[in-house]
Amino acid sequence: MSLGNTSQPSVKSCADKLNAKYSQGRPGPELVPSRYALKVGAIDVLVVSDGVLSLPGAMLGHNVDPAVRAAWLEDMFLPPDVSEWALNTVVVRSGGRTVLIDAGIGGEFPDLPRAGLWAKRLEAAGLDLASVTDVVLTHMHMDHCGGLLANGVKERLRPDLRVHVAAAEAEFWESPDFSRVSMPPGFPDALRRTGKRFLNEYRSQMRTFETEYQVAPGVLVQRTGGHTPGHSVVRLASGGDRLMFAGDLVFQVGFEHPDWYNGFEHDPAEAARVRVRLLRELAANRESLVATHLSFPSVCHVAVDGDVFRWVPGPWEY
Ligand SMILES: [Zn+2]
Repeated sequence: MSLGNTSQPSVKSCADKLNAKYSQGRPGPELVPSRYALKVGAIDVLVVSDGVLSLPGAMLGHNVDPAVRAAWLEDMFLPPDVSEWALNTVVVRSGGRTVLIDAGIGGEFPDLPRAGLWAKRLEAAGLDLASVTDVVLTHMHMDHCGGLLANGVKERLRPDLRVHVAAAEAEFWESPDFSRVSMPPGFPDALRRTGKRFLNEYRSQMRTFETEYQVAPGVLVQRTGGHTPGHSVVRLASGGDRLMFAGDLVFQVGFEHPDWYNGFEHDPAEAARVRVRLLRELAANRESLVATHLSFPSVCHVAVDGDVFRWVPGPWEY
């Protein structure tokens, strides 16, 4: 069933609604953790939050009856109309290489002022941009590549930095297709603009791959397609430990309802097929999962639950 491209409210109205409960002010930023370190065998992993995105609830499933969607949100103790999405990025150190996986949104969409903190938070974690050898982009949506376009970032990166992205992704953003998405006003234009700008600014440093590429020891990027034609996941494997950084493969609703179409998916039917295939694989091989828009730090496992899946949060290891 498809109910078509519902018209979404603006993200500004979403943010205003969510901010209303903080009329007395939010807790100070130092009181809320924004980074979480873990080990995958010999590989050092750091999940870094870029902040949160305030988005319309309908984006979680634009092909379902609004009453069904509202009932799910109610069951999950989430507000009916707007939700805050985490925006997680990852830093990986392996074999002498320092690899950034995705880069947050930067300043690409001013109506999302509570995101765009990636560069600041890397610095607070003691990471010098000049030490970065590689960047991997799961895809070129602005909430994944925008941080590399933010003021003062490119100048601090090494001239020999390698930016790994699927060839299909780079090609897609030359002339992107938005016919099957369902996004808030202003998003398609901002995404088109950011994709083009990224290609222009980083083309000489881009290293494209067809299906997969080993970035560092135990760090493999694999193209999945679906969400965007070149959407990719990063698989870490060391000493018997395994973890997948899944980008936008799965959103919170996608465990229980893997067939719900997310508003950002450029080929939602294919995105749903990819989601089911990889969630099954994660459940079978008991690999850990970290994903961009699952609640920070999002380290979890996947279990099969009948025809669908269950999200099993990992313990806070500190
Ligand atoms: Zn995203």
